[in-house]
Amino acid sequence: GCPGRLPELKGNIRVLCRLRPGTPSSLVSMEPGPGGTVTTCYRGHHRRFRLDWVFPPDTSQEEVFRELEPAVLSCLRGYSVCIFTYGQTGTGKTYSMEGPPEDPGIAPRALQSLFREMGAGGQHRVTLSMVEIYNEAVRDLLAPGPPERLAVRQGPEGQGGIQVTGLTHWDIPNLETLHQMLSVGRSNRVTAATAMNQRSSRSHALVTLTLHAASPSRALDTAGTLHLVDLAGSERARKAGAASAPRGDPEGARRLREAQTINRSLLALGGVMAALRAHRPHVPFRDSQLTRLLQPALGPGTTAVLLLQISTRPEDLGETVCSLKFAERVG
Ligand code: ADP
Ligand code: MG
Repeated sequence: GCPGRLPELKGNIRVLCRLRPGTPSSLVSMEPGPGGTVTTCYRGHHRRFRLDWVFPPDTSQEEVFRELEPAVLSCLRGYSVCIFTYGQTGTGKTYSMEGPPEDPGIAPRALQSLFREMGAGGQHRVTLSMVEIYNEAVRDLLAPGPPERLAVRQGPEGQGGIQVTGLTHWDIPNLETLHQMLSVGRSNRVTAATAMNQRSSRSHALVTLTLHAASPSRALDTAGTLHLVDLAGSERARKAGAASAPRGDPEGARRLREAQTINRSLLALGGVMAALRAHRPHVPFRDSQLTRLLQPALGPGTTAVLLLQISTRPEDLGETVCSLKFAERVG
């Protein structure tokens, strides 16, 4: 059995929504908890969105993790679990996923919880890899030396997997090593200033932890996998101050291209999740590097959790509605 309070799975994708703390607004209201709702009033239209869980603005990091822990621990039974943070820049994606050192988020809590469950029995071998996708280029964040661009290829026929040539996988003997490696990877992540957030992350960051569980009763190892994905900001190019890049403004043109590739890959992610949810025969994994890389993590028998981060500020309302529509499409 599964401990905790994981609600009934809707297909294999659950959508949770966390509201960023800030001035409450009558334009965004909610009913918290399981099966909660968020109601928006945008340009005079009221819309109500139902989610698998709604976390009000005063929710602690611990409360968020409590809802995710059963899914995280299912990796120890050989499952593949993928947790995403999705939303407009500044809504708390990185806060939820990483958190400040004094108030850790999902990633550090998940890793601690997994290591605690595994105990000191030496029954599992844990490996870590960490990549970033920036402008559709995949880079190894843990490679020794400067991050190099990696080639992503379809794996051997019939296996449905992908191969990332040259990606380093690190053996992780203990939690301390794990935290050291994660901070190396984080500091290698590409960040760029945008009009919205000085240190806004314009890349997707994927942390993959593989648990190779050596079971004495079986000939083969069963491998569970945990993917933690901090997605790039979902705001449209216009709002990032990039859409009107004048001629001869290379910086503006670069930011526009950035925003467009981000939008395309998030659209691809939505397309894949929607196709999986509807059990369509064709799932367009190949539409972006993000979905190609995550193909093994999103197939049948896997669990995906999308943590939607939204703002309640009136000036963000358009983006908030866009994020909720994304959730509606995939959940
Ligand atoms: P994103 O990664 O989505 O761009 P961040 O995680 O960087 O957003 O959050 C933007 C700012 O808001 C940061 O200063 C962060 O500390 C703060 N913040 C976000 N969510 C919370 C929260 N739940 N409680 C306190 N501060 C938060
Ligand atoms: Mg961020």
